[in-house]
Amino acid sequence: MTLKRVAFITGGSRGIGYGIAEHLAKAGFDLAINGVRPEEAARKALGELRALGAEVIYCPGDVASGDARAGMLDRIRQHFGRLNVLVNNAGVAPKERRDILEATEESFQYVLTTNLQGAYFLTQAAANWMIQQRSEQPEFWGCIVNVSSISATVASVNRGEYCVAKAGLSMATQLFAARLGEFDIPVYEVRPGVIRTDMTAGVTSKYDKLIEDGLCVQKRWGLPDDVGKAVAALARGDFPYSTGQVILVDGGLTVPRL
Ligand code: NDP
Repeated sequence: MTLKRVAFITGGSRGIGYGIAEHLAKAGFDLAINGVRPEEAARKALGELRALGAEVIYCPGDVASGDARAGMLDRIRQHFGRLNVLVNNAGVAPKERRDILEATEESFQYVLTTNLQGAYFLTQAAANWMIQQRSEQPEFWGCIVNVSSISATVASVNRGEYCVAKAGLSMATQLFAARLGEFDIPVYEVRPGVIRTDMTAGVTSKYDKLIEDGLCVQKRWGLPDDVGKAVAALARGDFPYSTGQVILVDGGLTVPRL
């Protein structure tokens, strides 16, 4: 019997991460789901993923903590004994949007450690495990997907720390893609635009108006489902010769227009 592939999705029990988890479950993956909330809070989401046929474990912990990251991977190793796909999706917005002439170093540190340092070192640890698996089983297939943001290239001066973190994640994608090429482990960046989740719930009316006024080519909010479909295509191996590349899921927001 062939074992199902295992995908680990940080921040996978709600928002974009859940959209990704849903599509990976439908694509036949077993899942490890991370979040900072206790398992009880994620129980409904985990149940829905199991109903799609996936074996699902929950790996709580703060991605910004090295000990927590090691604990998550240990749990996956103990339960599944393998890891094929890492999706670095967990992320935070600044607690308060502030102009870069006033924003605090504390907020910079909070956003950078969570959105960049966490993903960077989780990738390092997962990549080493994938390299080991590949050396033991020549048929092993794995990949890594970083969920960045259009903020990697679109400047928002009232959340500079978020933009800097996402730009850094974009370079991290290229760095790990370059390093893991010899092991045939592709690393991709998925770059969403404006997606309807808890993260954007506080700015709904602002984006409703911007979208109405033509912010995106496609005149609607993006949905976690849109991002989930893109990540599932990558995780299934549908882009085998595209390592290091950016897949935009932004409804055409970044298409230059006149
Ligand atoms: P949400 O706020 O809806 O969900 C964030 C998820 O990340 C939650 O599952 C949360 O866990 C988890 N998380 C937050 N901090 C940590 C941490 N320190 N350690 C582990 N898990 C953590 O956000 P979205 O779904 O909107 O965003 C997901 C990703 O997509 C983020 O990286 C975000 O930057 C990016 N993105 C979002 C866009 C949008 O418009 N919404 C646009 C572009 C990119 P828990 O559920 O336990 O609280």
